[in-house]
Amino acid sequence: MLSSGSVWLSEFSKMIEWVSIHGGHSGQFCNHAVDSLEVIVQAYVAAGFSWVGITEHIPPGGDEFVYPDEQAVGLTAVSLYHRFRDYMQVGRALQQQYADQLTLYIGCETEYYTGYADHVRRLVAEFQPDYLVGSVHHLEDMSFDMDANDYWRIVTAVGGLDAFYQKYFDQQYDMIQTLRPQVIGHFDYPRIYDPDYPTQLRQPETWGKIMRNLHAIKESGAILDCNIKGWRKGHPEPYISAPILQEALALGIPVVPGDDSHGVAEVGADLQRGIDWLQAAGVPTNWQRPCSPVSHNEKEEK
Ligand SMILES: [Zn+2]
Ligand SMILES: [Zn+2]
Repeated sequence: MLSSGSVWLSEFSKMIEWVSIHGGHSGQFCNHAVDSLEVIVQAYVAAGFSWVGITEHIPPGGDEFVYPDEQAVGLTAVSLYHRFRDYMQVGRALQQQYADQLTLYIGCETEYYTGYADHVRRLVAEFQPDYLVGSVHHLEDMSFDMDANDYWRIVTAVGGLDAFYQKYFDQQYDMIQTLRPQVIGHFDYPRIYDPDYPTQLRQPETWGKIMRNLHAIKESGAILDCNIKGWRKGHPEPYISAPILQEALALGIPVVPGDDSHGVAEVGADLQRGIDWLQAAGVPTNWQRPCSPVSHNEKEEK
């Protein structure tokens, strides 16, 4: 057996489990992803993950929220609802089929727009996903994360960056209180196309809303997704950024890596880097698992 330092180090680093609390978007069920869900699950198995949350985007609440790339291929709110139904069926089948190789959770990632609360509640009641990733990708019903041009158009429309960040964190707060998701997706997402985001996050009114939201997350028992897609988007760090991470840690909020994969090539990409980054920041690496909506509510009622 080899006993060089590097082998010992790599063996040591493997002791921290590889998990993803947010990801597994597939070309089968998402227009801006690639590959079939089963091929993606097989990639997670091959990479040695212990457990993975597959968290496909929810279907839209109406045709006005069908994304342009979906409209372009003739999809509607109704056909996307049918696709989501198929996703839940295929996901449940894969969960059984691969149960002896890794633990799969079949969840979904929310949106925030007009009418979202009743829409998400209906979906949860009908499909009973294992858990929700609560995410905000819209501001005032306009999706802001698809490209930089849209982002800056919306920043201008809502009155500038200060207003943009503040509205985002207000919507996130509303979403946390209304949906009580088990996981909060990419917490500081409004920085997606803003190179000067460290300054922007520190604006006093924005920072106050960030702290308010962290307290709400602590109170709700939710887990923060450490979304390593931040590196893929060219940021120097994942979502959430280091100063916010430190506040979350001080509050005792669990933080778990999510690769936010949208295809096989992104399965586990940057994951070890993310684990190392979290470990260096002092985050406990005995990753908390998401619990089901039912057990989550039971826990809250105790
Ligand atoms: Zn996506
Ligand atoms: Zn997202």
